Amino acid sequence: DRYDLLVVGSANADLVVGVERRPAAGETVLGSDLAVHPGGKGGNQAVAAARLGARTALLARVGDDAHGRLLLESQRAAGVETAGVLVGGAPTGVALITVDPSGDNSIVVSPGANARLSPEDIRAAGALFGAARVVSVQLEIPLETVAEVAGAMSPGSRLVLNPSPPAPLPGHVLGACDPLVVNEHEARYMLGESAGSTPREWARALLALGPRSVVVTLGAAGALVADGRTGDVVPVPSPKAEAVDTTGAGDAFTAALAWRLGLGEELTMAAAFAVRVGAAAVTRRGAQESFPTADEVPAAAEVAAP
Ligand code: ATP
Repeated sequence: DRYDLLVVGSANADLVVGVERRPAAGETVLGSDLAVHPGGKGGNQAVAAARLGARTALLARVGDDAHGRLLLESQRAAGVETAGVLVGGAPTGVALITVDPSGDNSIVVSPGANARLSPEDIRAAGALFGAARVVSVQLEIPLETVAEVAGAMSPGSRLVLNPSPPAPLPGHVLGACDPLVVNEHEARYMLGESAGSTPREWARALLALGPRSVVVTLGAAGALVADGRTGDVVPVPSPKAEAVDTTGAGDAFTAALAWRLGLGEELTMAAAFAVRVGAAAVTRRGAQESFPTADEVPAAAEVAAP
């Protein structure tokens, strides 16, 4: 295989302005200088994996505009193969982010070209699917496109799906996930009223929805791995980290997990690596800027025994 990992997902330009307070309806406030950062869950995951050393390809759609060129450039700088990034059809996706002095965000997302990544685009990318051991997908692209991805998996390859932002998933998509990767918020959304009160209960209830395996991320507490083949639910503790900014931690975790699965690692082992990558990502500001190289991932010995 030419790629350890194919990421299918969104690419956004994050436009960030600091404000003293958020404007009320009809009001105008002055903000700080604009900062433009590459983002979107697909773009984030691809950069996170490539920075760790994974042979990574991205399948996404950006606009034929300055933001699209910036996103392509940041992917290439990280070493991501961008031949699968389609250009045009709508402006590049944008997240308009205002940050107040307490650090709270207000975000408006304009999906733009991400919403135009179509099932037809997936069918046209058969060669990429044939060349990747693991495919990672999130829900910042149309649901019918995600469903096409689940159907396009080549035999022997593995689908990693993070349902973010959470949305109802068809049974055949859930059934293809190995694993389904959720944080607490996504777990609760998917389980609704039936959610139990402990992560262990969530993991078991999520398995019952059909995925072959489930990983629940738990912030500083690490992750919980549930394998449908064995029925085992295994806690995977995270190293201690001085958390400065958790933005992108989930994307770094998922990318690292998917890469190690692509190398043939067993799920719990892959998660034990991924929590170390997530812990490294929270020690620096930003999303893509915060992702570690392999050298910057804390050693396994730094993880306390459970
Ligand atoms: P985000 O939305 O902030 O990107 P998330 O909610 O999707 O993240 P989390 O469960 O918060 O995902 O974090 C993913 C992984 O990052 C965790 O499994 C853990 O390894 C690491 N992590 C997150 N927060 C911390 C922390 N405070 N200390 C150490 N590791 C952390």
